Amino acid sequence: MGVRGKLIALMVLALIPFLALQAFQIIARYEQRIDAHLQASQDLAKAISAAFVNCLDTIWSMELALGNAVLQWDGPVDPRKVEALLYAQLRAHSTLRALSWIDPEGVVVASTDSKGTGRRTPDSESLRLINLGQDLVVSNLTKPPGQQALTFTVSRGIRRDGLLVGVIAAAVDAKKLGQVLPAAPASPTASFGLVDQNALIVFHNLDPEMPITKRSLPAWSPVYRVLRGEAVTFRNTRSELTPEPRAGASVPIGLIGWAAFATEDLDKLIAPLKAEAAREVTVLALVCFLSLLATSLLGNSLLRPIQALRQAAQNISGGNLSARVGLTGQDELATTGETFDRMAERIQELEATRTRFMQIAAHELRNPMTPVKGFLSLLRRRIAEGRPLEEQDKVIEVMEKEVDRLSTLLNEILEAFRVREGRLPLNLEKIDLAVVLESAIQPYLASQGQHRFTLDRSDRSAIWILGDFKRLRDVFDNLLSNAVKYSPDGGEIRVTLKTAGHQAGISISDSGVGIPKDQLTKVFDGFYRANNLTGRDPGGLGLGLFICRDVIQRHGGRIWAESTAGPGTTIYVELPMDGL
Ligand code: ATP
Ligand code: MG
Repeated sequence: MGVRGKLIALMVLALIPFLALQAFQIIARYEQRIDAHLQASQDLAKAISAAFVNCLDTIWSMELALGNAVLQWDGPVDPRKVEALLYAQLRAHSTLRALSWIDPEGVVVASTDSKGTGRRTPDSESLRLINLGQDLVVSNLTKPPGQQALTFTVSRGIRRDGLLVGVIAAAVDAKKLGQVLPAAPASPTASFGLVDQNALIVFHNLDPEMPITKRSLPAWSPVYRVLRGEAVTFRNTRSELTPEPRAGASVPIGLIGWAAFATEDLDKLIAPLKAEAAREVTVLALVCFLSLLATSLLGNSLLRPIQALRQAAQNISGGNLSARVGLTGQDELATTGETFDRMAERIQELEATRTRFMQIAAHELRNPMTPVKGFLSLLRRRIAEGRPLEEQDKVIEVMEKEVDRLSTLLNEILEAFRVREGRLPLNLEKIDLAVVLESAIQPYLASQGQHRFTLDRSDRSAIWILGDFKRLRDVFDNLLSNAVKYSPDGGEIRVTLKTAGHQAGISISDSGVGIPKDQLTKVFDGFYRANNLTGRDPGGLGLGLFICRDVIQRHGGRIWAESTAGPGTTIYVELPMDGL
């Protein structure tokens, strides 16, 4: 997996708990909403049950009053008088459809329903229960023959001295129950109602006139449990009237074995939650998308410097040492790029030094070999011819000189490697810098060469420093030999020595070819030779100044070259006199 892929995976991992939390919140809100609704439904179902029981009580009280009135009469029950009483009560109770007085055998003696008088009551079950001694009875919902209205009867046995005298049966019009039940809830989809022992819906607020064929509840309805006496809540139930899923509660009406229920359309209930969740999911999706987009862009911005680094590394390993990353900035990748570039710079320098070394060493080491080889073949010829070589001593002397030069060059190379490895030993002691300088300049003054030397000292007293006499003399020798090498015959070479504070300063000036400005520091690098020569190359390895700089720096001093206006070069050396 690439860097970008890993970043995106990381972001996805970081988002997972956040998404899980949101999902958990949405589910928790849903549960809360449903629970609150179930509680409210249960309360409503209980209120319906109470209102219905209250309605039954009213009817039974009315029936008791009626029975008492009849019992007060002497002699047999007069159907006409009873009928008058029944009519009076029927008018007073709007939910009633008919009121009847039935004799203990089940024959309707008097009724507000004229068709019923003289016939047997159809509600034989209620009569049976009353005959068994039960006084207050409610039948299940029925559709009396020849009638459209669905009713149930609320009956009461009237007894005198424990003996059943008659039964008063009130036929309640089921569709009118809405008048005695609590007002319909605000929501048009909320439903409530009553169910009888046969699991028939006696009243349903959404359709009070529902035909009887539609009233029976399916076998899986939770109301069956309620009819067995258990209060239930349900989250997802359907009926023929309300085929969409509904949530609600149902409670038993203990007295008569019926059930009261209250439900609400589940979709309607959670619609606001759904809208809210949809909004949250949209925002969440947007946040995720933006996070992943930002991560991907971040990945790109991370990849760019990495790719630049890789490209530069590939180029360098392929031999293109001038390749650079070229990153700028403050972050870790930019500083890594800068470090890489510095490393590449260093490798390039080392490679340049190596190349210079090969070129210069090969050239310089070959020079002394050429005359030696010439003399040796001349000698061989002469010996073969049996002719002695005149000026033999001179030839041998020249060859010795060349071999010496060769060994000096090799020593210089060895010394340069020691410098590079920091292994050039220094033998420090208290020495007079003026003496060191004079001992270096002496051979030049004595050689009576082509150059004029002057030594200028402002102060004649000794200049004590802690130094390595031999190494410092070699340094000055080197500088003087350069001044000679790179200035024309007859040129003046001026050496000054002075002190200032705790510093001793030496300058060696010549009137030679000078050093181009851009190479004034480079000439102190190993195997570096300036391209300042117009005429004959006096030869050299380009190591003299490199070794000089190391020796001076290890004495705590500094060395630099100046070569500004006109011909000539001045090399400055500064050495500390501190602590002496
Ligand atoms: P060697 O290793 O034998 O000393 P070199 O003289 O070429 O060889 P350095 O002494 O290190 O090497 O000097 C480096 C280069 O600096 C020289 O090749 C020369 O081009 C330049 N240089 C040094 N001194 C002077 C000077 N006085 N005038 C002009 N150029 C100088
Ligand atoms: Mg030199």
